[in-house]
This record gives sequence, C-alpha cells and structure tokens, in this order.
Amino acid sequence: MTNGGTVLLIEDEAEIAELLRMAFEREGFRFVHALSGESGLEQLRDREARAVLLDVGLPGIDGFEVCRRIRATSDVPVIMLTARDTEIDTIVGLEIGADDYVTKPFSVRELVARTKAVLRRSEEAPVERSVIEVAGFLVDGGRREVTGPNGVVVRPTAREFDLLWYLADHAGLVLSRAQILEAVWGYDYFGETRTIDVHVRQLRKKLDGLPIETVWGVGYRIDE
Ligand code: CA
Repeated sequence: MTNGGTVLLIEDEAEIAELLRMAFEREGFRFVHALSGESGLEQLRDREARAVLLDVGLPGIDGFEVCRRIRATSDVPVIMLTARDTEIDTIVGLEIGADDYVTKPFSVRELVARTKAVLRRSEEAPVERSVIEVAGFLVDGGRREVTGPNGVVVRPTAREFDLLWYLADHAGLVLSRAQILEAVWGYDYFGETRTIDVHVRQLRKKLDGLPIETVWGVGYRIDE
C-alpha cells in the first residue's frame, strides 16, 4: 500500500533513514532516501515527492542550501531535521521556506504526525474560510468574534483577532515571530517582535484554555 504518495528523506545517517522508512511505509507512503543534498535534489527533479524531510547537517551542501534550492523551483512541503535545538537553526530554516522542523533526537511518531499535518495544510483548497474551529473554539472571521467551548462569546481587539486568525488558519504548524509579524503586522512594521508576545498573552487571558503553545526560541503554534 503506497497510495500516500512519495516522501523523500535527505539524510546521511542510514540508521535514522531505516527507522523512518519503516514508519512511513507503514503509513502507506512510498519512501525514497538520498544520502546527500546533491542526490536529494536530483531525486526531486526525477520524481514527484509530496513532502521532503531534510537534515541540516549533510556532507557537501548543507540542508539550508538544499532548502533554498528547492524553494527556487518548488512549493513541496519541507520539514527540517535539526541536530541542535538552537534558535538560529530553527529560525533560519523557517525563514528560508521550510514548513516545519523537528529537533534531533525526535520521536518518529511525532515526525510522521507533523508530516501529515503539513500535507493537510499544503493541499487544502485555498478558499477563504469564514469560520475556523480549533480545539473547541469557533473563530468567526465575519463577525470577528470567538465562541469558546463553554459557549461564551469573546470579541478580541482587531489586532488580537488577526493574530488568532493567522495562528488558527495554520493550526498544528510552528510559526516564527518573523512570519507572524509579516503576516499580521505587515512588511512595513518596524516595531519589536515582543509585540506578538504581548498579544498572545492577551489572547490567552481572554480565551481561557486556547492551546497557543510557545515554541521556545522560534514563535508559536496553536494545537489542532
Ligand atoms: Ca546529518
């Protein structure tokens, strides 16, 4: 059963590759493994992949450069596998166009789940949704109000609502502060990223139980 499409792993560690092969094949994906960035890019040219799992530390060109080259020609979802839990790696990865990342050592189950979440998002029809449901909260884009699981209706400020909408619209994905600023405050915003933290704090206060998770050193994710 390989009707899930092809997942391409670019990773020089054979042991990790074998673990992932078993997990993804069990989930119905066809699994292709490349040992270097160069051969990974070649594989991508030759076949259609639904998602790319990309290690940062590779012999030859590194994962960041591979991601840049992929993004020059393709929108295929990319999940970075970073070895170090450093702010720089994760931010750089997301800013050059990776869709998500996991930090080594990661749980195989988590990576499979993240991959499926990224696939769901990337292949969703690009229709403007008017109501998004997230963790029992109904976020109504027309009325710009939120109904909690307890039925209480809350009307956040305009900016708080825009921030919540952006997070909810990308539920399950890690969003960097830079991405959030750009999407919610706009390119020409010159303020601080701390602004986001303040707005998140307000949302958490007004919407008790809303699962906005802080991703240390990167940004935020709202859980589905
Ligand atoms: Ca490596």
